[in-house]
Amino acid sequence: MTKPYKLVSREFKQENTHINVGDAVFGNESLPVIAGPCAVESEKQVLAIAKSVKNAGAKLFRGGAFKPRTSPYSFQGLGKKGLIFLAKVRKETGLPIVTEAMDVENFDLVEEYADILQIGSRNMQNFSLLKRAGTSDRPVILKRGMSATLQEWLMAAEYILEQGNRNVILCERGIRTFVRHSRNTLDFSVVSAVKKESHLPIIIDPSHAAGVRDQVTPLAYAAAAFGADGVMIEVHNHPEKAMSDGAQSLYPEQFLTLMKKMTAIHTIVAKK
Ligand code: PEP
Ligand code: MN
Repeated sequence: MTKPYKLVSREFKQENTHINVGDAVFGNESLPVIAGPCAVESEKQVLAIAKSVKNAGAKLFRGGAFKPRTSPYSFQGLGKKGLIFLAKVRKETGLPIVTEAMDVENFDLVEEYADILQIGSRNMQNFSLLKRAGTSDRPVILKRGMSATLQEWLMAAEYILEQGNRNVILCERGIRTFVRHSRNTLDFSVVSAVKKESHLPIIIDPSHAAGVRDQVTPLAYAAAAFGADGVMIEVHNHPEKAMSDGAQSLYPEQFLTLMKKMTAIHTIVAKK
């Protein structure tokens, strides 16, 4: 082995890792879509959004119950109550749940409710959290830190695999650059770089890269064209009243249009 990362490297494993969750497969050239609000706000809110994203073709539902916020004065999430609402969504719609585990302290609780555990950008190098995720039997979405190199990101994934959990999905969500026209800069070139270096699936989150609604749709189309293994998109039924990330959340009708066109692009690109 010549790479600093071992278990995550193509050198170690040539075939793509396939991760099955519900109806979705990450890593087999399909394009599973994860959609939902940034944060769980109420039972009514998540059920309404879940029904519309499911009708539009989303395969998994997202929503944070524990939210890592820049300001301590911003909404921090509903905690356990939010997880209970997410369980209701799964029961009523059949959609598997993606939700963030923010710390080791609440990990057991989040793990009980989540079908996929998310580790957020701000925690990409929280090594105790990565080790704990490595002992879980649930797949993990590992978001790229906002200033992480490809090597740092893959080393973070290595922490999880090294503890025994081989089901890691990498998620590019934009990196910090000098620009002011978007919240972050979506680093598309990392998709083929990841695929060269690693067997792990890589999905794209255009919402946190864009920061504004208008930029989300074109980035999602590009994600399909770039051969991403999935897309995660924030959708809200009343984005103007959202407790977090309202400006980048799509209206359900916009999400429906996006799904139709993105699927068409994916079909062309995936054709051998
Ligand atoms: C989120 O998914 O809502 C989130 C907080 O993402 P990130 O960690 O990429 O900022
Ligand atoms: Mn968000």
